[in-house]
Amino acid sequence: MSVLVYTENNNGSFKKSVYEVVSYAKALADSLNTSLTAISIGNVDQPALASLGNYGASRVLDVSNDQLKQFINQAYASVIAEAANYVGADLIVISNSFSGKGLAPRVAAKLQAGLADGAVELPQIDGDKITVKKTAFSGKAFALTELTSAKKVIALNPNAFELRETGGNAEIEPFHPTIPNNDFATAIQDIVRTTDKVTLPDAEIVVSAGRGLKGPENWGMIEELADALGAATACSKPVSDAGWRPHSEHVGQTGITVSPNLYIAIGISGAIQHLAGVSASKTIVVINKDPEAPFFKVADYGIVGDAFEVVPKLTAAIKAY
Ligand code: FAD
Repeated sequence: MSVLVYTENNNGSFKKSVYEVVSYAKALADSLNTSLTAISIGNVDQPALASLGNYGASRVLDVSNDQLKQFINQAYASVIAEAANYVGADLIVISNSFSGKGLAPRVAAKLQAGLADGAVELPQIDGDKITVKKTAFSGKAFALTELTSAKKVIALNPNAFELRETGGNAEIEPFHPTIPNNDFATAIQDIVRTTDKVTLPDAEIVVSAGRGLKGPENWGMIEELADALGAATACSKPVSDAGWRPHSEHVGQTGITVSPNLYIAIGISGAIQHLAGVSASKTIVVINKDPEAPFFKVADYGIVGDAFEVVPKLTAAIKAY
């Protein structure tokens, strides 16, 4: 048995979450005394593919195929399942990223494998049984999922596992899968980026604001703080519902789930539906004028104060640093 890890690319390059998932898969492969193969789909250049060796992949299957240049859930799942059979992998690791959330269940269905999505740490291995700790109920709880099927798929939450460089080298092998035509029944023609700013799901730092900001005209100070930190901006649901900010910034149970290293919540009460999308953040800083605001209960650091006084001072201090 070997372990297969899917390494998703973004316009031909790998994000940090890819090296996290490779480090995680390598640790799993080591516990199982087996090797790690990575599969890359789309057109990724050779140095990027080779960099996977430094995180523990000894072999990289390279599917460079113009038909697969854009992410297509069904087709990518077929390719990963075929690759798993090709290398004899019983364990397939995928990032629980935006696209991974759609991909992992499809791969599991194709391989008739058990699935644990939202893994947050290395599983316990007991013979053929693997017990995975994963987030449940939109991040409000953890669950232990036992995988007992012959093949298993694990989708790892971004930012849940540290990078581990091994200094190894990977052998790159072109892989030519047979993809069923009906996998292309729907296809994305092109993806146009509308901003050069850091996108929310990938951000290491997120500066988020809520109804406490009073109106859209006050977001200048939020953007200034975010720029000073190299952060992405986010907001609570009522803020995007009111049209103060775009819906693409809405985080929470019904919005985007984020897990940055630092989440700064400004003028947000900390309702359970908001926390569901942000509680996996490594460090949470809350700025709120109400000392009883529920967000303080989950904060690592809290500032009780008026955002209109605190935020400009914080930005000035960061710029001066
Ligand atoms: P408020 O609750 O109005 O809080 C504003 C906060 O700002 C208060 O704590 C106040 O003390 C503070 N404040 C006011 N003035 C200042 C100041 N000058 N300086 C500092 N602090 C100040 N919400 C989400 O965010 N994401 C979701 O995905 C989501 N999904 C939902 C799904 C369902 C089914 C339901 C029912 C609700 C959902 N909600 C969601 C809404 C959620 O319940 C809350 O209503 C919402 O999160 C509150 O937004 P808020 O904190 O910005 O506003």
